[in-house]
Amino acid sequence: RIDLNLNIRGLKKSATLAINEKSRELQEQGRQVYKLGFGQSPFPVPDPVVESLRQHAHEKDYLPVKGLPALRQAIAGFYERQQGIKRTAEDVLIGPGSKELLFILQLAYYGDLVIPTPSWVSYSPQAIILGRRVNWVKTHQENDWRLTPEELESICETDPERPRIVILNYPANPTGATYTADRLKKIAEVARKYKVILLSDEIYGELHHSGQHVSIARYYPEGTIISSGLSKWCGAGGWRLGMFVFPEELRWLLDAMAIVASETFTSTSAPIQYAAVEAFRPHEEIDRYLRDAQRILRSVGRHFHSRLTQMRVFAPKPAGGFYLFPNFAFYQSNLSNKGISNSGQLCERLLEDTGIALLPSYDFGRPSEELTARLSYVDFDGAMALQLARTTYKDK
Ligand code: PLP
Repeated sequence: RIDLNLNIRGLKKSATLAINEKSRELQEQGRQVYKLGFGQSPFPVPDPVVESLRQHAHEKDYLPVKGLPALRQAIAGFYERQQGIKRTAEDVLIGPGSKELLFILQLAYYGDLVIPTPSWVSYSPQAIILGRRVNWVKTHQENDWRLTPEELESICETDPERPRIVILNYPANPTGATYTADRLKKIAEVARKYKVILLSDEIYGELHHSGQHVSIARYYPEGTIISSGLSKWCGAGGWRLGMFVFPEELRWLLDAMAIVASETFTSTSAPIQYAAVEAFRPHEEIDRYLRDAQRILRSVGRHFHSRLTQMRVFAPKPAGGFYLFPNFAFYQSNLSNKGISNSGQLCERLLEDTGIALLPSYDFGRPSEELTARLSYVDFDGAMALQLARTTYKDK
């Protein structure tokens, strides 16, 4: 007799999966597919980090559950240099990807999870698997889909004493938008008032397009956990290394997560942790690598954004990372004449007609009838795909 955990049964097959299957089908028929659904950095892992991995390939022992002390120290130093926040090695927890750490955070913590949408695809399935209560906050296009202090306050007010973790992700997946320091300060004030824990997912922080990424931990140091890792800015998603940086006030939560870690993944791959030390220590070559990556993403992002705007497909201006969140509402009546009334159908049809694979916003927590999608511009051939789409849909 096969039986499933009830929470798993609550999970639906994602619309993204359907798009991926369809892409494969079309490719097998010899059609050109432009995969603008991809979420991996297009850049190679920086050479000094690869070299360090080579040198440490022989490291074979289990490392401490919380992580390699030298790496935890290097990460604390990184945040002190980049953000001016004082953290020690004791404040850092290493895991096999920030996704895994998010999962064990939810295992260790009692309370609700506040998720502003659109949001990264895995926050809510993780909560569903663990049977947690989610407070959804629907953000709005006029705010570039960013959480406002008022929206946060209205959620917290519904039950002010309830323990909550609020997820903030910026530069954001799927929108590419980020927050100004002023907006972060206001969100921090609300967070402090209701004593919520902020899980600030800053995994795209180093890939900001101009100026400097500002962590909200600067304004709410006592209640912010920063989540990041090597996957995006170092292009090393498959290496599986993530980290959480805690304030001393939340050390109890770090310790609780370490207990869960010790009974589950034990510790993160030793060679990868040694190599990661190189990524987080001061390094001219890596600074240069990052400046180049930021410059390239900025210009490709702007190019895509301006082409979309010309087509009256509006999206927030890209500010970091490598995603855009176009809204096809302008074409709504035309699309509905073709029988397209939700983001899943939109993406399927776009793929069939033009070979462009986007991901439907439904998987990012938006209502299915919203004609939005995620476009990832790390496939640099995509510029051609946009040209094709323009030709196909130009007669509104
Ligand atoms: N957070 C966001 C916003 C992401 O886009 C991703 C990866 O796509 C992750 C977290 C997870 O990254 P990793 O588990 O590779 O550290």
